[in-house]
Amino acid sequence: MITVWDHRHLKLAREVASWSKDPRRKVGCFMVTKKHEPISYGYNGFPSEIDDSSDNLTNDDFRRKFMIHAETNAIRLGDRDRLRGATAYIWPFLPCQPCTSMLLGAGIDRIVTTEYAPEHWVSAFSDSKKVLGERVVIYQMSDIRQQTTPYDPAFPLN
Ligand SMILES: [Zn+2]
Repeated sequence: MITVWDHRHLKLAREVASWSKDPRRKVGCFMVTKKHEPISYGYNGFPSEIDDSSDNLTNDDFRRKFMIHAETNAIRLGDRDRLRGATAYIWPFLPCQPCTSMLLGAGIDRIVTTEYAPEHWVSAFSDSKKVLGERVVIYQMSDIRQQTTPYDPAFPLN
């Protein structure tokens, strides 16, 4: 079930996604406890030791190899004990397989995201969805459109 808190937190994940410098895809993750208390957030980016120059950011091979995904960054920055049983809001789509494992390993209990799936991610997302089972809640774009202004899910806030 989608609550007003889900809506608010998913909007925050969208906001966090906009902070990513990745020119291709901006992903955001916002995590809260069962009582809606914020725990952590993350967006996709290089570790601070790697220069986020446009050379590195536009080199697809380099970027894929060294970029930390939003979910992994949120787990990395979150307090281990508070992550157990938490909800992760991910904008704009399901976690990839390695992030799915990281989220489960960290004890994340619920994942809220949207139905958006770029074509080359469809198969990976289908695997993630299977593994996550009832932990994942898919927010329909139509639900969001009813409550916010329209946007392009592929490039939110751009
Ligand atoms: Zn990932």
